[in-house]
Amino acid sequence: MDTIAARLHAIRAGLPPEAQLIAVSKGQGAEAIREALVAGQQLFGENRVQEAQGKWPALKAGFPDAQLHLIGPLQTNKVKEALALFDVIHTLDRVKLVDALAHEISKGAKNIPCFIQVNTGHEPQKAGVTPEEADAFITYAQAKLSIIGLMCIPPAEEDPAPHFTLLRDIAARHGLPQLSMGMSGDYATALACGATHIRVGTAIFGERHYA
Ligand SMILES: *Cc1c(COP(=O)(O)O)cnc(C)c1O
Repeated sequence: MDTIAARLHAIRAGLPPEAQLIAVSKGQGAEAIREALVAGQQLFGENRVQEAQGKWPALKAGFPDAQLHLIGPLQTNKVKEALALFDVIHTLDRVKLVDALAHEISKGAKNIPCFIQVNTGHEPQKAGVTPEEADAFITYAQAKLSIIGLMCIPPAEEDPAPHFTLLRDIAARHGLPQLSMGMSGDYATALACGATHIRVGTAIFGERHYA
């Protein structure tokens, strides 16, 4: 049986009890997402504020326990919308963004938990602070926002394990308990390295569809 529900159950069956599965629904239509919601999935990830704004208000109306995680880059001009729609942000990566979020929260926006994204592979096309910048940035962000952990996306062509353990080591020295790491292709490795949140898209939903 190759359905969204069957794939979800198969992935969940292999997870340690404390690990959270985020179903990455970017590029998926409302029908596919509803199938996952009906199958009991509550955590979802989207990487674009605008795309999520188009799909999620209606879905959340029918499934009020659904939680939306922002897993893509956030521009400072979208901070207000992001805080209104998302429950967790995984992609804090610069001082200007920390300041913009703290400012909105001081004006009454929800103080949502955040992960800091670390660019463990020093890839120029990827967001995230470098491992060298991470300590100072984490300390800065912890003073202003509710920081719960670190997130990374290892380089596609490398063994992800050293990246996951690097992320775990940085988190440990700041007392950060959560690690958002692992996608469809490498989540088993991520779990073995201590992931608390895995972000899985295609292994649940199949190929993405963009207009
Ligand atoms: C798209 C995406 C995922 C999911 O990727 P799959 O390979 O489809 O599982 C996970 N994390 C981030 C940050 C993404 O952008």
